[in-house]
Amino acid sequence: MASFDDIVLSPDPRLKQRCAEIEEVTPEVRALAERMLDDMYLAYGCGLAAPQVGELVRLVVIDCDYAGTDNRNPYVLINPRIIAADGEERDFAEGCLSFPGISVTVTRPSHVIVEAEDLEGDTLRYEASDNLMAVCLQHEIDHLDGKTMVDYLGPIERARALAECRKAIEEGALPGEVGDEE
Ligand code: ZN
Repeated sequence: MASFDDIVLSPDPRLKQRCAEIEEVTPEVRALAERMLDDMYLAYGCGLAAPQVGELVRLVVIDCDYAGTDNRNPYVLINPRIIAADGEERDFAEGCLSFPGISVTVTRPSHVIVEAEDLEGDTLRYEASDNLMAVCLQHEIDHLDGKTMVDYLGPIERARALAECRKAIEEGALPGEVGDEE
């Protein structure tokens, strides 16, 4: 059952861990992917990484297509690897389901190629350029190495963003709610 309570919020230490490779697609891995997709759709997110539901394994789910529609096009990426990240750098105001109430402008390469296994164990290649998918792939894979969007900020900005997030959580902001960008 999808639940906002399932989503790990900043500053939980599980968001800072390097996650383990998945050796085999077991029923538990399938169930985890289902649970993550349910939570992601509940919160209207475009991506979710396993540590965000407290599981320290290299699994992410992404759907950049459905926002505001019923067109679900979920991707499940097991052990995703960035093969290339290049092209012009782009600024994008990112949100994160683990950081309610804030968005953070992050500069990333605009073009990315990622390889990952799917739930059938097949290796698939994803390529994205200059779109939400390019941002989302990099943001979610960062989570698997314990890196979050606030880590791109300098120390003062980061402290301010974390304080704003903490306040938003105290005031009842739910995952997926993003405040005004500064
Ligand atoms: Zn995130």
